[in-house]
Amino acid sequence: MKIFFDVDYTILGLDDTLRPNTKETFQKLLDDRHEIYIWSGMGERWEVIEKHDLGGFVSGVYEKPTEHFHEKLEELKVPCEPEFVIDDYPEIVAAFGGVWVPPYFFAKNTDQEMDRIYRIVCDFVEHGTSEDRQYRAKGTVLPLF
Ligand SMILES: [Mg+2]
Repeated sequence: MKIFFDVDYTILGLDDTLRPNTKETFQKLLDDRHEIYIWSGMGERWEVIEKHDLGGFVSGVYEKPTEHFHEKLEELKVPCEPEFVIDDYPEIVAAFGGVWVPPYFFAKNTDQEMDRIYRIVCDFVEHGTSEDRQYRAKGTVLPLF
Protein backbone atom coordinates (compact mmCIF):
# COMPACT_ATOMS: atom_id res chain seq x y z
CA MET A 1 0.00 0.00 0.00
CA LYS A 2 0.93 3.62 -0.35
CA ILE A 3 1.18 4.63 3.31
CA PHE A 4 1.35 8.33 4.16
CA PHE A 5 2.84 9.48 7.47
CA ASP A 6 2.33 12.92 8.93
CA VAL A 7 5.38 14.63 10.48
CA ASP A 8 4.64 16.82 13.52
CA TYR A 9 3.46 14.84 16.56
CA THR A 10 3.12 11.68 14.45
CA ILE A 11 6.77 10.76 13.80
CA LEU A 12 8.40 13.97 15.15
CA GLY A 13 8.16 15.46 18.64
CA LEU A 14 8.23 19.08 19.75
CA ASP A 15 11.79 18.38 20.90
CA ASP A 16 12.77 17.32 17.35
CA THR A 17 13.20 13.67 18.33
CA LEU A 18 11.79 10.84 16.23
CA ARG A 19 9.04 8.77 17.81
CA PRO A 20 10.57 5.55 19.19
CA ASN A 21 10.75 2.73 16.63
CA THR A 22 9.97 4.95 13.64
CA LYS A 23 12.86 3.64 11.53
CA GLU A 24 12.37 0.04 12.63
CA THR A 25 8.70 0.26 11.68
CA PHE A 26 9.49 1.90 8.34
CA GLN A 27 11.87 -0.98 7.60
CA LYS A 28 9.23 -3.57 8.47
CA LEU A 29 6.71 -1.83 6.20
CA LEU A 30 9.23 -1.78 3.35
CA ASP A 31 10.01 -5.46 3.95
CA ASP A 32 6.26 -6.08 3.58
CA ARG A 33 6.42 -4.28 0.21
CA HIS A 34 4.59 -1.12 1.25
CA GLU A 35 5.62 2.32 0.03
CA ILE A 36 6.18 5.09 2.57
CA TYR A 37 5.39 8.74 1.89
CA ILE A 38 5.92 11.68 4.22
CA TRP A 39 3.69 14.72 4.15
CA SER A 40 3.07 17.72 6.35
CA GLY A 41 0.67 20.63 6.59
CA MET A 42 3.80 22.75 7.07
CA GLY A 43 5.11 21.90 3.59
CA GLU A 44 7.73 19.49 2.23
CA ARG A 45 9.84 18.66 5.27
CA TRP A 46 13.10 17.69 3.62
CA GLU A 47 15.03 19.06 6.62
CA VAL A 48 13.42 16.41 8.83
CA ILE A 49 14.18 13.67 6.31
CA GLU A 50 17.81 14.76 6.19
CA LYS A 51 18.31 15.34 9.88
CA HIS A 52 16.91 11.94 10.81
CA ASP A 53 18.32 10.12 7.79
CA LEU A 54 14.94 8.90 6.50
CA GLY A 55 15.67 9.32 2.79
CA GLY A 56 16.30 5.63 2.24
CA PHE A 57 12.84 4.71 3.50
CA VAL A 58 10.60 7.13 1.65
CA SER A 59 9.17 7.17 -1.86
CA GLY A 60 8.06 10.82 -1.73
CA VAL A 61 7.81 13.96 0.41
CA TYR A 62 4.82 16.26 -0.05
CA GLU A 63 2.78 19.07 1.39
CA LYS A 64 -0.37 17.76 3.09
CA PRO A 65 -3.80 19.26 2.51
CA THR A 66 -5.34 20.61 5.70
CA GLU A 67 -8.89 20.75 4.30
CA HIS A 68 -10.74 19.41 1.23
CA PHE A 69 -8.32 16.52 1.45
CA HIS A 70 -9.15 14.69 -1.77
CA GLU A 71 -9.71 17.81 -3.86
CA LYS A 72 -6.38 19.40 -2.91
CA LEU A 73 -4.13 16.45 -3.81
CA GLU A 74 -3.61 17.62 -7.37
CA GLU A 75 -2.98 21.25 -6.39
CA LEU A 76 -0.33 20.13 -3.89
CA LYS A 77 1.24 17.84 -6.52
CA VAL A 78 0.65 14.65 -4.59
CA PRO A 79 0.94 12.16 -7.49
CA CYS A 80 -1.10 9.31 -6.04
CA GLU A 81 -4.07 8.67 -3.79
CA PRO A 82 -2.98 7.81 -0.23
CA GLU A 83 -4.20 4.29 0.55
CA PHE A 84 -3.50 4.43 4.29
CA VAL A 85 -2.81 7.51 6.40
CA ILE A 86 -1.11 7.79 9.81
CA ASP A 87 -1.79 11.09 11.59
CA ASP A 88 -2.51 12.70 14.95
CA TYR A 89 -5.15 14.81 13.19
CA PRO A 90 -8.31 12.71 13.04
CA GLU A 91 -10.08 14.33 10.09
CA ILE A 92 -7.53 13.38 7.46
CA VAL A 93 -7.35 9.80 8.77
CA ALA A 94 -11.13 9.52 8.45
CA ALA A 95 -10.99 10.89 4.90
CA PHE A 96 -8.48 8.36 3.52
CA GLY A 97 -8.61 5.58 6.10
CA GLY A 98 -5.74 4.64 8.39
CA VAL A 99 -4.59 5.07 11.97
CA TRP A 100 -5.13 7.97 14.33
CA VAL A 101 -2.19 8.22 16.75
CA PRO A 102 -2.07 10.15 20.01
CA PRO A 103 0.28 13.11 19.54
CA TYR A 104 3.94 12.52 20.33
CA PHE A 105 5.61 15.51 22.00
CA PHE A 106 8.80 14.50 23.82
CA ALA A 107 11.26 11.63 23.79
CA LYS A 108 9.99 8.88 26.02
CA ASN A 109 10.96 5.32 25.61
CA THR A 110 7.60 4.03 26.82
CA ASP A 111 5.88 5.09 23.59
CA GLN A 112 4.82 1.96 21.69
CA GLU A 113 2.56 3.56 19.12
CA MET A 114 4.73 2.55 16.17
CA ASP A 115 4.29 -1.13 17.04
CA ARG A 116 0.57 -0.55 17.29
CA ILE A 117 0.53 1.18 13.87
CA TYR A 118 2.37 -1.77 12.34
CA ARG A 119 -0.11 -4.24 13.82
CA ILE A 120 -3.05 -2.24 12.46
CA VAL A 121 -1.48 -2.12 8.99
CA CYS A 122 -1.05 -5.91 9.12
CA ASP A 123 -4.68 -6.32 10.27
CA PHE A 124 -5.86 -4.16 7.40
CA VAL A 125 -3.83 -6.04 4.81
CA GLU A 126 -5.07 -9.38 6.08
CA HIS A 127 -8.70 -8.59 6.90
CA GLY A 128 -9.51 -5.26 5.22
CA THR A 129 -10.20 -3.78 8.66
CA SER A 130 -8.89 -3.73 12.25
CA GLU A 131 -10.53 -4.13 15.61
CA ASP A 132 -8.16 -1.56 17.10
CA ARG A 133 -10.05 1.57 18.07
CA GLN A 134 -7.29 3.75 16.60
CA TYR A 135 -8.10 2.35 13.15
CA ARG A 136 -10.36 4.49 10.97
CA ALA A 137 -12.11 3.17 7.88
CA LYS A 138 -12.01 5.37 4.80
CA GLY A 139 -14.89 7.84 4.76
CA THR A 140 -15.67 7.48 8.47
CA VAL A 141 -18.14 10.12 9.55
CA LEU A 142 -16.83 11.91 12.62
CA PRO A 143 -19.17 12.76 15.46
CA LEU A 144 -19.98 16.45 15.80
CA PHE A 145 -19.04 17.90 19.16
MG1 LIG B 1 0.59 16.21 13.06
